[in-house]
Amino acid sequence: MDLEQHRRPRRTKIIFTIGPSTDSEEILERLMSEYYVDICRINMAHADHEYVRTVVRRIRKIGDRTRRHIAIMMDVKGPEIRTGDVEKPIQLEPGEIFDFTIKPQSNGESGEEIRSVDVNYANLVNDVEVGSVVLVDNGLIRLEVLDKDHAHIRCKVIIPGELASRRHINLPGVKINLPSLTEKDKRDAKVGIEEGIDIFALSFVRESEDLRILRQYLDENGAQDARITAKIEDQQAISNLYEIIQQCDGLMVARGDLGIECPFEQLPIIQRKAVKACLTLGKPVIIATHMLESMIHNPIPTRAEVSDVANAVLEEADCVMLSGETTIGSHPVKCVEALNKIARNIDLHGQKADFAKNMALTTDKAKIQHSAVVMANELDAIAIICFTRSGAMARGVSALRPHSSPIFAFSNAPETVKQLRIHYGVTPFQMIFCTEPEATVGRAMDHLMQRGYLKLGDKVVVVSDILASDRVIDSVQLRTVD
Ligand code: PEP
Repeated sequence: MDLEQHRRPRRTKIIFTIGPSTDSEEILERLMSEYYVDICRINMAHADHEYVRTVVRRIRKIGDRTRRHIAIMMDVKGPEIRTGDVEKPIQLEPGEIFDFTIKPQSNGESGEEIRSVDVNYANLVNDVEVGSVVLVDNGLIRLEVLDKDHAHIRCKVIIPGELASRRHINLPGVKINLPSLTEKDKRDAKVGIEEGIDIFALSFVRESEDLRILRQYLDENGAQDARITAKIEDQQAISNLYEIIQQCDGLMVARGDLGIECPFEQLPIIQRKAVKACLTLGKPVIIATHMLESMIHNPIPTRAEVSDVANAVLEEADCVMLSGETTIGSHPVKCVEALNKIARNIDLHGQKADFAKNMALTTDKAKIQHSAVVMANELDAIAIICFTRSGAMARGVSALRPHSSPIFAFSNAPETVKQLRIHYGVTPFQMIFCTEPEATVGRAMDHLMQRGYLKLGDKVVVVSDILASDRVIDSVQLRTVD
């Protein structure tokens, strides 16, 4: 990478989901220190507790060694319905009669002629009606409910396919009576808290109350500082979009399930609406799923995938996310490299959507942040340097989407540094603050010079709420590196 490229880090952040393709020390180190991934997602639909502990510790160890810590997101499954384990995949045939069983059966067989699989949700029989559609494995398999009793849901296969273990079940338009935070989620989150997870993502958030319940659980178990991402995945979440965004620390447009629960042609409109709403309310937003799906097998993306990623970058979403591409895919590093290339190219040549211009500046702090961004835009400043203990100042500056100036955020709190990785355009560093404000600025500038981000004569904007030794004073300054 040439010097000028290095001085303007990629602004769109990359989240990868960890799995067998990426969990080795060697691949993790390459992703973290060569390709600058920002967040590792652990999907609790597939990971067990031992796996969580092992990979979290591995990532932290690599972070210590490479002096670049990334955030770790634990994705708890929420009210998700899955099929149970099958000994070997069941090939469902068109028109076949097939049972979902509530009580555990022998794998893949119900004892009768009719084949079956268990489901992890005992009340499913009460939620579905005869005639309901049951979609399995991301909607690839479609069944229709013919009959039900207390222990079985008898279906007819409409669209056949291969049913493997623990496949996701969707019931479009059906209100599921599962709690928003299940007992499994609590056990998972407990391990996450013990391992110092930075961000908890809650699946199938349907209303803001779901987030309040997770917040309370985290607070009661010592994770007051952990941040919460709401995954929107169904029609109810879309109806409650604004209240969900207001309650969360970040939103994930989980297009995998959304594209099943809602007609797929509505997906681009929902994505645009969600991104616009997040940028208007100053909350980070993640575009997830199928970004580079073909690269699970192929070494290069399809043209359509390139355009999809580019669209998310043009919308100025904070993050793009990889799932199967990096859990089981054959080319995980190439996928990250592809996202990197596309995002960087759009940063240089794209005309971005600028939804952040609609953000209301309701507090004095927001107005200070706005002044810093206007100044940086006017001067095409090579950097906005931001001092922030809790991260709020850097989050606010990022939310205003400076046109080209990178945001270098310094915090003395290691958790803040990791959590800031989700935010558009922010490159965070940990630094001990000096009692003398001028010394703090000097130390930050030296750090950025040593790392090749600044050179003598550069104009930078400094924004801070902690630069006064005896009291908090918000300030914006224009400085020249000397
Ligand atoms: C999705 O549905 O897009 C998604 C991210 O969910 P999952 O946790 O199933 O990958």
